[in-house]
This record gives sequence, C-alpha cells and structure tokens, in this order.
Amino acid sequence: MHSIDIAVVGAGPAGLAAALMLHASGHRVTVIERFETPKPLGSGLILQPTGLTVLHHLGLYERILARGSRIDRLFGTDARSGRAVLDVRYRTQGKGRFGIGIHRAALFGVLHDAAIAAGIPVVTGVDVAALDVGESSARLLDQAGRSVGAFDLVVDASGARSCLKSFAAHPAEPTPLAYGAFWASLDWRAGFDPNALTQRYRRASVMIGVLPIGRVSPGEREQAAFFWSLKPDDADRVVAGGLDAWKGRVAALWPETEGYLDQIRSFEDLTLAHYGHHTLRVPAGRRLAVIGDAAHSTSPQLGQGANMALLDAMALSHAIDRSGAIPDTLDAYARARRWHVRAFQAMSWAFTPFYQSDSTILPFIRDRIVATFAKIPPAPQILAAMVAGTIVDPFATVGLREHDWSLTRHKAEAADEIELT
Ligand SMILES: Cc1cc2nc3c(=O)[nH]c(=O)nc-3n(C[C@H](O)[C@H](O)[C@H](O)COP(=O)(O)OP(=O)(O)OC[C@H]3O[C@@H](n4cnc5c(N)ncnc54)[C@H](O)[C@@H]3O)c2cc1C
Repeated sequence: MHSIDIAVVGAGPAGLAAALMLHASGHRVTVIERFETPKPLGSGLILQPTGLTVLHHLGLYERILARGSRIDRLFGTDARSGRAVLDVRYRTQGKGRFGIGIHRAALFGVLHDAAIAAGIPVVTGVDVAALDVGESSARLLDQAGRSVGAFDLVVDASGARSCLKSFAAHPAEPTPLAYGAFWASLDWRAGFDPNALTQRYRRASVMIGVLPIGRVSPGEREQAAFFWSLKPDDADRVVAGGLDAWKGRVAALWPETEGYLDQIRSFEDLTLAHYGHHTLRVPAGRRLAVIGDAAHSTSPQLGQGANMALLDAMALSHAIDRSGAIPDTLDAYARARRWHVRAFQAMSWAFTPFYQSDSTILPFIRDRIVATFAKIPPAPQILAAMVAGTIVDPFATVGLREHDWSLTRHKAEAADEIELT
C-alpha cells in the first residue's frame, strides 16, 4: 500500500506498538491520547512469549529484558491446606520459553521512548468521542464535537472503554465481571520466588498474588505487583472496615506477605481494577481497525491482554503491508486474528469463575480434580501453552516466527543476576 495518513487513538501497548510498525512501513502516523501526559495506569503484567516475540520484532526486546523479571512458573496453593492448586511451568514445553513480569510504566516507557525517537507525533489531551467517515477520509471528533484531522485510516487502540468501537461492523460493550481486584506496585521483599507468579486461594472468592515486575528503569529498585481479588461492589464496605482489618485478613491467609502489607499505608495506595468481558465479532468498520482491549477485553486470569494487543498491532501492520485497498486490509487483519482471539477469550471466560466467583463447586473441582489431572501428561504441556498464548498458533497469521528463546535466555538470566548482586 502507498503511504497513507493514519490516526492511532490511544497510547497504550496496542497503540504505541501499532504506531511504531506503521511508521516503519512508511505511513504518516499520528498518535492521539486523552491524557495531557501519556501515562500507564495500574501495576504490572506478564509479557508472554507471544508479546515478547512482537517486541523482539520491534527491536525493543533487550530493553524489556533489562527492566523486567523472568517468570518461569505460575504457582498457587490453597491458603488453608497448603495444597498445590496451580503449578504451570513454561519449561514443560521444552522450547526454552519464559515470561517477563514487567511494571506497566516500564513497558510504556520503552514503547513511548521508541515512538518519540522515531519522530512519531503524539497529540495529547484529546479525548476522542466519535468517528465521521466520508467518501475519501475519516474525521475524528473530540468530546466537544471538534474535528481532529482527516485520515485514511483510524486505528482504535483506546482500551476496553473505547467510544470508537461502537463504529465497528458489529459493536459490543464489555459485560462487567463480578470480581475485580486491588492492585499495588510495592518494593520487592525476600522470601518469594523471584521467577514465579505466586498465589494463594481460599475457594474462588479469595485470591492473593505476588508477581515480580522488575524495575521501572535499569538500576532502579526491584518491585512486585501485589493483588487481592474482590468484588468492586464490596470495596466501600472493605474500606469502611478499616485498613488494619483488611491487612489482618490477608495476613491470616498468607503471613509471609507482611513485608508487602507494611508498605500499604492507606487504601489510596491500592488501585481498584474493574474487569469486563467482550469480543468484537469483526474488529473493524469503515476506515476503522479496532485493536487491543478495545476489540476484546477480559479478566487478567490468563494474563494475555497486553500480549494479544501486541499481536493485534502486528497483524494490522502485516495486513497493511500486504494489501492494496483499505477494505481488503481490514478484512485481512480481522481474519488473521480471528481464531487466536476467539480461543483465548473463550478460555478466559470459562476459567475465570474457577478463580474469581462465589461458586463453591468450581473451586472444589479446581482443587480436587483439575489439580490432580493437571499433573498427568499432556496436561502440563497444554497448560503451559495456554499461559504462553500459543495453544492456537498466534505467529503465522501475523507474519511472525517465534523468537528462538535459547539465543537470549542467558540474557534474561543475566539481567536477574545483575539486579541481585
Ligand atoms: C489488573 C490488571 C492486570 C493485568 N494483567 C495482565 C497480564 O498479566 N498480562 C497481560 O497480557 N495483560 C494483563 N492485563 C491486561 C492489559 O493491561 C490490557 O490488555 C492492555 O493494557 C491493553 O492494551 P491497550 O493498548 O489495548 O489498552 P490500554 O492499555 O487500556 O490503553 C488505552 C489507551 O487509550 C487511551 N484512551 C482511552 N480512551 C481514549 C479516548 N477517548 N481518546 C484518546 N485516548 C484514549 C488511554 O488513556 C490509554 O492510554 C491486565 C489488566 C489489568 C486491569
């Protein structure tokens, strides 16, 4: 395709990655962000082999390794009995795979710095509300109805609460999920596995987690994402009960978290995350591509959201590189991501209630039946592929080959060692 004018709405992982790729392909790209100063919200996340492969394609993988923490294992036990409920190891697949726990600010910083260095204009303080598509271009309108430029293509990367997704061929809005979580980024404390997401459960109504997320910039102090699952509807009641009462509940279930609880001085130190679930049947409309959480949101139970956002960006850029006309491009993009997105959205929808719900039967099945079968091959390999994001091949349709982890695993290990010495 010849060089076209593209607006990317949203400076999250999806938008910044798409902007970098489309700019590299020679298009005139403008990123439009509602915040005056672009910034990430929330704590940390796991970059899976899928997202890491996209970041490698962007030439940003080494910068991510220098900031993140290598994750080899997801390990969860019942808070009362100590019985292992979840034990997934990337290495069971034998491909040298691993995840990287990363602070959102670090991921954002790496992508944003690369966009600025590439000379991509980032227009801030514009809250996009609507799309007006004409014969030859599309206009964006802000909340006050002011027009923001004319573009050949608009990429909606504005997250789960996107207004623009209502202009997709088959609009859908997220269904709120009953459970969300309190999250905080805290200083790392010894006594936890630095290469594992560690969790404690009590039925499906309590989930506490500690995820190593490395450092915001190389050389800075190590951090962990700490989370406590709860219903957003109950948050006011928990706050009214007082911080000490809440800390007492957490410490009773997991005394070793005291070093994290001590760092929380008020409920202001915790961010309440709400989760929702939706999947656009076709993540596109006239002159509109929808990517990332705007196209498909879910609970973070499978830890795929940011990784799917990066894969979407890659798929769109690949489709634009290969197609001639915008409608064909959008069609190719939607086809490239269809099965991977549908599979992971369905798995997330099915598995979330086993970990976050009021059910007593589902956690019983999880603890007694699933935990037993999960040890019998090929279940460990299947679980590892689910976590890695590779149970449906995500690479071929977006024009990528999976990174060869054996080439760089030593660097991920070295990055951890440097920080420990
Ligand atoms: C608590 C929590 C834990 C998670 N853990 C994981 C994990 O371990 N692994 C994983 O892969 N994913 C995880 N996720 C999901 C992941 O955070 C999202 O999938 C990812 O951030 C989606 O990226 P995005 O770029 O599509 O959207 P966002 O990150 O939401 O970015 C959207 C951007 O658009 C901007 N914007 C919004 N509206 C407008 C507007 N009207 N006009 C202009 N700009 C606008 C926003 O300010 C923002 O900068 C987690 C999510 C949560 C909430």
